[in-house]
Amino acid sequence: MSGTLYVVATPIGNLKDITRRAIEVLNEVDFILAEDTRVTMKLLHFYDIHGKKLISFHEHNEEKKIDEVEKLLKDGSDIALVSDAGTPLIQDPGYRLIRHLRKNGYPIVPIPGPSALISALSVSGLSTDAFVFLGFLPHKKKKRHDLYERIRDLNMTCVIYESVHRIDTLLEELCEIFPDREIFVAREMTKVHEEYYYGKVCEIKDNIKKKGEFVIIVGKSYER
Ligand code: SAM
Repeated sequence: MSGTLYVVATPIGNLKDITRRAIEVLNEVDFILAEDTRVTMKLLHFYDIHGKKLISFHEHNEEKKIDEVEKLLKDGSDIALVSDAGTPLIQDPGYRLIRHLRKNGYPIVPIPGPSALISALSVSGLSTDAFVFLGFLPHKKKKRHDLYERIRDLNMTCVIYESVHRIDTLLEELCEIFPDREIFVAREMTKVHEEYYYGKVCEIKDNIKKKGEFVIIVGKSYER
């Protein structure tokens, strides 16, 4: 019988944000596929999980690792997939692997837990009945602007991930294109310096500390 691949969500900052089941699974599997083995080692150490076989699995070697993972599963090994933070595959590696294994009938089980997207949305005060998750926006300006047009037409809550390097540009563009929309910015959630900002983007953009990790949520053109 083949082994199972567990897709395990891990904390997005505070190491205590992990489920008991995730810890059990990490303790019990034969192998852990880790985006950055040093980050995962820190988590394992925090939970006294020792002697685990870690396999490096990131966007640059994902394709190459698929055969190896498939063979391990075929041999009956149970495997966990983790990323550096949050839920694997949500703007993190794993899609190509899961797609291959799903198509070939292997057991794949989620171990749910944190994701920056859902955490930010849940405290945003913006409509959550229908939303689009855009992840990181395209690097090319033209492509970004095409996307803004589509957002405008959709009129749904939009969730965007951004790093410190491009947050300024994003906020400037949002101010220009959506001056009347309410936005919500979650910075460094669950970490020591977590901060939340809410209001019209042009009014709040200069107050936002440009450090750390961000989720930006753009409200609909009309919030009730
Ligand atoms: N897999 C993760 C998840 O489930 O949310 C996302 C990984 S993605 C590579 C990293 C991005 O997620 C960051 O650039 C930021 O936009 C967002 N993010 C992750 N942790 C965060 C946090 N603690 N506070 C704010 N944003 C965070």
